[in-house]
Amino acid sequence: MAYTKPLDDIRVGGEVDAKCPTCKSVTNHRIVSMNDGLVKHVLCLTCDNKHNYRPPTPASKTEPAAAVKTRNAATKETKSVKAPPKEPKPPKEPKETKEEKEARETKKLEMEERELNKAKWQTLKDKTRGAPAAYSVDGVYSVDQAIMHPAFNEGFVTKVLLPNKIEVQFEEHVKVLIMKVGQSSVKQEIPQKNLVKVGG
Ligand SMILES: [Zn+2]
Repeated sequence: MAYTKPLDDIRVGGEVDAKCPTCKSVTNHRIVSMNDGLVKHVLCLTCDNKHNYRPPTPASKTEPAAAVKTRNAATKETKSVKAPPKEPKPPKEPKETKEEKEARETKKLEMEERELNKAKWQTLKDKTRGAPAAYSVDGVYSVDQAIMHPAFNEGFVTKVLLPNKIEVQFEEHVKVLIMKVGQSSVKQEIPQKNLVKVGG
């Protein structure tokens, strides 16, 4: 209905807020003419442009909208300022590289172990005399004895793990093999705790 803003003087010659097409905002207007109690023409007091009255309904929208916009902008600015410390850069540790590094280290260790085994094996080979005995689970072996394993080839017994195992140094690795239950004379050389450990 009629413009009811109490502060405005709704009469010709009075002042009223209206939307000004020139200023493109709600400005103070002087009422130039009225029709049936409604404002018809107004004169913008800002730009002096006379035009049809356009209710400042957008005013109530525009102004809060503008205010909101400003607040949002302010909020955004605050956020953007806060954002960098809020989002610390995650530590860059590419998993693949880490795994690759571990793989390389493992491989290196394996190679070193192989080299070490080969050196030990060579030393044993140099000091051991006589042809290796064919390995069999039914055989009985003693430390420093050379054996020939069908899969691992030539090896040297480094330990006797009673009651029935031997640790054998092969060219690239150490293996524990089964043998026939050892002699009681060898058994006495093994500490009691080893007996218990191996027995379990
Ligand atoms: Zn204007």
